[in-house]
Amino acid sequence: MSNPDLAVDCPRCGLRTARFVDHCRNCGYKLWPSSVLASAAFKSWRAANPGRMAASRFDLELPVEMDNTIDFEARAHQLGIHIFPNSNWPFLICFGALFLSLAAIPFEPVVRVSLAVIGGVIFLVGVVGWVIVEDVKIFPSDSAAAGHEAPH
Ligand SMILES: [Zn+2]
Repeated sequence: MSNPDLAVDCPRCGLRTARFVDHCRNCGYKLWPSSVLASAAFKSWRAANPGRMAASRFDLELPVEMDNTIDFEARAHQLGIHIFPNSNWPFLICFGALFLSLAAIPFEPVVRVSLAVIGGVIFLVGVVGWVIVEDVKIFPSDSAAAGHEAPH
């Protein structure tokens, strides 16, 4: 249990093999009397140290924790790819478009007109918020100098 190794040199072929699998992976030499016993030995070996919990008995060494988080904005900047800044306004625009498309269904004229008005107002608020309010906030100099011709 105190031995931290997950791999062992096979007594017959001498190659490294998983220590808690009952047969040698290279030559098939029987390392344990049964796989049940090998598994039980692995479980108590793993329980002896909390750092061994991620290990599998088929591994040759303890798995290494990898930090896979990627800063996509920094990566895109490095590659010269332009990413438009995050915005929640497109959700509002889509919500307005939902009511506008409901207005296209041939209901009673009163229902259709009110759906179109509701959808149109939400849609326009979304477009104004995204294109005018937020864009001016994010690109103040661009908008002041070139108005809507600002390169995006
Ligand atoms: Zn072997």
